Amino acid sequence: MSNIQEVKQQAYRLAEENIGLYNHICDEIFHHPELGNQEFYSSRFLVEEMEKRGFRVQYPYGGLETAFRCEIGEGHPKVAFLAEYDALPGYGPNKNENGHACGHNWIAACTFGAADVLARLTEHFEGTIVYIGTPAEEGTGGKADLVKAGCFDDIDAAFQMHLTSGSTELNGRSLAIDSLEFTFEGVAAHAAGNPWKGVNALDASYLLFTGINALRQHITPDARIHGIIEEGGVAPNIVPSHCVCKFFVRAADRDYLNGLTEKVINCARGAELMTGAKMSYRYFENSFDDLRCNPVLVECMAHNLDDIGYTTYNKEEKAPSGSTDLGNVSRVVPTCYVSLDVENTDGSACHEEPFLCHVNSEQAYTANLRAVKAMAATALDVLMNSEIRQAIAK
Ligand SMILES: [Zn+2]
Ligand SMILES: [Zn+2]
Repeated sequence: MSNIQEVKQQAYRLAEENIGLYNHICDEIFHHPELGNQEFYSSRFLVEEMEKRGFRVQYPYGGLETAFRCEIGEGHPKVAFLAEYDALPGYGPNKNENGHACGHNWIAACTFGAADVLARLTEHFEGTIVYIGTPAEEGTGGKADLVKAGCFDDIDAAFQMHLTSGSTELNGRSLAIDSLEFTFEGVAAHAAGNPWKGVNALDASYLLFTGINALRQHITPDARIHGIIEEGGVAPNIVPSHCVCKFFVRAADRDYLNGLTEKVINCARGAELMTGAKMSYRYFENSFDDLRCNPVLVECMAHNLDDIGYTTYNKEEKAPSGSTDLGNVSRVVPTCYVSLDVENTDGSACHEEPFLCHVNSEQAYTANLRAVKAMAATALDVLMNSEIRQAIAK
């Protein structure tokens, strides 16, 4: 067995030698922005690049057309690098173009790089290097489907980084989320002529919002409930007989969220009772769990970032804001996730139009090299150190 520190030095050299390729991947996907579950060009491009490097490929994968799994090596431990490559809508001068304003092109590139670097070092360790393509993070949340399909059941550690602005976070949290769609079915009637014949589905929608607003005083500060009336009737002179409301319900902890979601559904049940408008509900998108970074992997990542001379990070737990399907992965696999500062100076953040010019820039390429080195080194800790493997599994 080789000395782990020597292998890490080899990994850093390989990352530097091949960074041109990894930056090309960042650039290629940036220039082909595709929305979630339609990432046909991007997924095929990544799979073909992996095939050229001798990875075994499953594509499509896990029941999703634009998901894939590429692997090299045999048996355990298995370390997985999770690519994303979906873009966002609504950019460009006419706000009708897709854009990688969340930098998922960069995620695809750095996770590719880490997997590729380790694939060139397999004589030094036992195990399997896995590169998993996970579609539609911004929409349906492909990782939730892949977790349900058992795609992570054999993985020992999962790695991902995301570009951000302001600070580098090694221990970020995210909010668990449920998406609820309520439909109220009433009875239409002339709103002035004979309103007593009607059953008002819009009143039920108002009462649902009123019930939720009363609930807000009694929920924990991390929780969020935000909704819209998507369909609220067709004309003021017709008693609305069909209304649809959509809500996101979020909280820092999945167990707490399960109870909160039940209370929101009870508000809708109350609105049904009060108005007589028949209520039904469904979850209109995948539910996500809260992200929990594995504490042992956080320490390993911090150590490796120090090792490559990057020390401006925060490894204390960071309060959650948004939600991500990576949370579901973190519930079944020890997960290492870093938000890496792209060091932009214009104050723009993910999803904002000015951020588009940062995710495929010289700064993004500098961050790409850091990410490849640090993820590869932390994966080497898992692959080559059985004590670390035991510790993360706890
Ligand atoms: Zn995003
Ligand atoms: Zn993102």
